[in-house]
Amino acid sequence: MLLLNGKKVSEHKREELKKRAKVFKKTYEREPGLAVVIVGDDPASHVYVRNKVKACEEIGIRSLHHHLMADTKEEKVIELITNLNSNKDTDAILLQLPLPSHLHAETILSHINPKKDADGLTIENMGLLFAGRPRVVPCTPKGVMEILKFYEISVSGKNCVVIGRSQIVGRPMAQLLLLNDATVTTAHSKTKNLSTLTNQADIVVVAAGKPNFLGADDFNKNAVVIDVGIHRLASGLCGDVRFSELKSKVKAATPVPGGVGPMTITMLLENTLILAEASAAQG
Ligand code: NAP
Repeated sequence: MLLLNGKKVSEHKREELKKRAKVFKKTYEREPGLAVVIVGDDPASHVYVRNKVKACEEIGIRSLHHHLMADTKEEKVIELITNLNSNKDTDAILLQLPLPSHLHAETILSHINPKKDADGLTIENMGLLFAGRPRVVPCTPKGVMEILKFYEISVSGKNCVVIGRSQIVGRPMAQLLLLNDATVTTAHSKTKNLSTLTNQADIVVVAAGKPNFLGADDFNKNAVVIDVGIHRLASGLCGDVRFSELKSKVKAATPVPGGVGPMTITMLLENTLILAEASAAQG
């Protein structure tokens, strides 16, 4: 079985992004700027944000970290986003999800200028992706495509099953595969005979958010298995797939940790550069 090493792909990609950030700085005499907005004290979110800030520094992207208290009112979050929209040193804005339960992610996201939407989650950017004209696309599915590209796994004409239909993973994942000429089936919690579907697939992207959900019996021996799931259990980190069962049972698979996870932040860095370059070129 070929191990699809997301850490390695990520390191390779970051070298390319470092060069791109250097060219940007030389051309426009400033660094690209990413603003990260985090509301509340979710420990996992704070770890992600710290990693994002560190990754920005390594690449040469200026990151601005805005931490708001858990009980911040929606108007205040929107006010901050509005200010960032008009701040010319901020090229990209990331709203860290999940938000505390009194806040509506969709409402707040709708206030991000789509030309500064680092995660590609505004309706305009989603619409562009679904119309086949992507501008910035959500980081996790974009990272999956990058892993496939790195290992020269073509999706054209392949039978792909995506498990999950969330806004941040499943739906954009299916669209990216479709844009690259795959034949795509999206499965979700109401899907019947899931194992029959996955057993027929050439490529399965699992984003069900259920720890150790699928195993060797769910895939055929030529399958490429991409596990997006990530869960912190008492026994450690695991994905949606029982990775230890896959050895010699499938063609290729991503591990957890070290698979899709490391790609997400790297794709955020790339999205920031894409937005910064577009905005700087417009003057
Ligand atoms: P989500 O919003 O909870 O969506 C889960 C999706 O899986 C839903 O569409 C749901 O169907 C579907 N599903 C649930 N049970 C199922 C079942 N038994 N059979 C088939 N489909 C089923 O989760 P998400 O935000 O997309 O994230 C998915 C996983 O990826 C989570 O573990 C998350 O932590 C992880 N994640 C990882 C990264 C990373 O950087 N590696 C980034 C984002 C997310 P319904 O729509 O019918 O409810």
